[in-house]
Amino acid sequence: MPKKIIAGNWKMNMTFDEGQKLTSEIVNMYQDESISGVEVVLNVPFPHLMPVKKLIGKAQGIEVGAQNCSDQASGAYTGEVSAQMIASFGAKYVIIGHSERRSLFQEDNDLLAKKVKIALDSGLTPIFCCGESLEIREAGTHIPNVKFQLTQGLFDLSAENFAKVVIAYEPIWAIGTGKTASSDQAQEMHSALRKHIAAQYGKEIAAEVSILYGGSMKPDNAQDLLSKKDVDGGLIGGASLKSRDFIDIIKSY
Ligand code: PEP
Repeated sequence: MPKKIIAGNWKMNMTFDEGQKLTSEIVNMYQDESISGVEVVLNVPFPHLMPVKKLIGKAQGIEVGAQNCSDQASGAYTGEVSAQMIASFGAKYVIIGHSERRSLFQEDNDLLAKKVKIALDSGLTPIFCCGESLEIREAGTHIPNVKFQLTQGLFDLSAENFAKVVIAYEPIWAIGTGKTASSDQAQEMHSALRKHIAAQYGKEIAAEVSILYGGSMKPDNAQDLLSKKDVDGGLIGGASLKSRDFIDIIKSY
């Protein structure tokens, strides 16, 4: 069975105090409402990694992640943050290839493949994002398009390494727009991706890989999306900034 994961993506939001308040609320609700069986990840901006990790403390089931890492190990790359640094601050996850990184920072599949490798070498679990534009969805070529993103970004990995990766299918037209893929659209893509993985790495690995859905997931649509056979969790942007909404999404799983 794939691990069930609900991951928040704070993007470039939250001052220090705001981040501390949000994290405390999430940790308290998570414990008071006896949530279990789902791994919760807070993917925070770099300066929050250490303080958020400290606030989570010994709470079981909540992990910290980053939203990006350098494709280089270390050295003269002013302004960059390495995967090894992220891991050294106690993070377990790193988002790689979010559509905002692909479109605003011109990150292509070759660069993302390097980032995935370096994240794995540093002991981090990459949450590899993929997803199609509205144009591609309307042209009906979304499935081959997203399969290609997986092939280019991940299929150079050994089977052992691939098995450590988490995938997030995030249709670009659904991110931050309030438009959500229907649960059937999500299931269709997730199932196609699992078959694609099975063809490359075998059925056993494909059956174990967590494939998350992301794109305007909210408390009122989460249950429907998360009930689908091949949807193993969610990557949540906007709704992860509100403790009650984020916890309600987790509880709807
Ligand atoms: C995201 O940033 O990965 C995301 C899915 O955002 P939102 O939930 O706001 O659409």
